[in-house]
Amino acid sequence: MPPKKVLKLDTKQQTLVNFWRPDTGGHDDSLDLSASVNEEKEQPSASVRDVSQPKKREFLTKWLSMYSWLRFVERTDTHDNFMYCSICDENNAKNSMVQQMHNRNYQNTTLVRHAGHPDHVNAVRVVPQMKQSLAVALQKGSSDKDKAIEVMFKTLEWMIKEDLPLSKFQSLVQLLHDFNVKDLEILSQK
Ligand SMILES: [Zn+2]
Repeated sequence: MPPKKVLKLDTKQQTLVNFWRPDTGGHDDSLDLSASVNEEKEQPSASVRDVSQPKKREFLTKWLSMYSWLRFVERTDTHDNFMYCSICDENNAKNSMVQQMHNRNYQNTTLVRHAGHPDHVNAVRVVPQMKQSLAVALQKGSSDKDKAIEVMFKTLEWMIKEDLPLSKFQSLVQLLHDFNVKDLEILSQK
């Protein structure tokens, strides 16, 4: 009979061991889990991009119709695809949405934020200003208009070459006019 008791004790011990084992096993599992979580964190850039994920970052063509200034450049042998803002790019703005920055942060929030960026807001205002100045010169319809336009284009060209903010175009033309630059006289004729 005593051997039976010993056996019973043995089974109890085994159960106890089994109690402990799952615990340590549990620790191992949690370690494995955290390890796999880390792996998952590192992997998305490589593999998850192709799997449908809510946060996959791909350029959506509908953005092109939402943002008139947005441009998308397809991937080539020399560079990956990227997007840029045509207005900021034309205006030599210094932000992450000019062509040379090769922005690939494909999120609508990136575009919303860019639309409110001071550089961008400024550039959006400037382009119509320049168009207006040119339109004024064109509307005069005199032979001097070509000269006025030429002066403005030269001014523009110079500003771009000197990397000056084009938001100053209007006031620079005004300054030239105030200095009585002859070819700009046409702008003040009513
Ligand atoms: Zn912009």
